[in-house]
Amino acid sequence: MIVNGLSAVLLSAFIVEKHIQHIDAFTPMGAYNLNMIYPRYNVQRSETSLSCQLCPSDENLHENEKVFFQTSPVKAYTARDARITIPSSLLLSTLANTAFTGSVAAADASFLGALNSNFPNSFANGQIVSQLLPILKKRGYTKTNTLVASSLCSDEINYSDQSLESQLRSNLVPARYGGVFHLGGLAGVPSVGISGFKACLGHVPIDGKVVLVFGPHIGIDENGVVGKIKRIGQDTKPTGTCGAVVGAKKALGVKKDPSAQDEEKFVNDTQEDAIIKYLSKKFKGKKSDEVGITEVTQSMYNLVRDEVLAYLQACILPDSKAFWGGISEIILLGGIVINKSYLQGDDYFQPLMLQALSAKGTKDLLSETYSL
Ligand SMILES: [Zn+2]
Repeated sequence: MIVNGLSAVLLSAFIVEKHIQHIDAFTPMGAYNLNMIYPRYNVQRSETSLSCQLCPSDENLHENEKVFFQTSPVKAYTARDARITIPSSLLLSTLANTAFTGSVAAADASFLGALNSNFPNSFANGQIVSQLLPILKKRGYTKTNTLVASSLCSDEINYSDQSLESQLRSNLVPARYGGVFHLGGLAGVPSVGISGFKACLGHVPIDGKVVLVFGPHIGIDENGVVGKIKRIGQDTKPTGTCGAVVGAKKALGVKKDPSAQDEEKFVNDTQEDAIIKYLSKKFKGKKSDEVGITEVTQSMYNLVRDEVLAYLQACILPDSKAFWGGISEIILLGGIVINKSYLQGDDYFQPLMLQALSAKGTKDLLSETYSL
């Protein structure tokens, strides 16, 4: 009996140890350790996107599929908890926490100040997901009837383990068999064309559903500088984020040399050129220093949204009856991704559109989900 008890204790310790090793393997210096050192950060990644062989597996998915998203316990946030509406109170609560160093508190305050003045009503990624999941559950989304798609910038920071796309994926599709259909190129502008959209929608489970997240991104560093972040291994060299948008902004009012293209070698810059063309038209007559990066990023959101809607329309309209006969609903989550510097915690997202499209029409869910 004692031996059995001891075995159980050892087994439990082994499982816990393995679990921790798994988390550490994913984030050697990341969310897990950050939570241990700075619990105030309440880093969402370890809560919302954890999946490993010791967690409930995909093998028993069919028995579990009616229990929605059970593999990822998520803290329930209220809209009031999550929304950045009163930065001064957040700032004060940050500064009042004496367990943390002045530099950490100052970094939080600088980031939150810039976030609120440039992208109000933004939420940490974990909060975006935790508030969306109950809405999806109510609408019949399960791990076997949902396809996740994205039209986000190619930049690797948008696909880290704590990114919005990763957190959606880990909560909405089976870890082993599910993935994300990527529709986006630079700045999140759809780059796969009508064939890519048709392929994506052709992969939706029969009579299933789609969650499509889209939008441009922008960095805010720990000093509150908008349009830059420090990346892993680049502590002394903050980089423009989104680089494609920063580059296109610099090109405003500057004529580009067409000889830079080399079509024969299939080396080109078509995605960046398209962004420059769009922004040059949008900010016609203005030079780079006459427009702000926030304003430019907001324009990029409009472009990404309009392109996503245009491609969807091109897929649906030719035979909408047949289209909705195969897909029951599409959720569109559009907004601006706000990246933080390395080791600064969860990225944020400013939700600007949350709609459900179906044969019945369009239903707005933004207010219900995020109280906006
Ligand atoms: Zn980018």
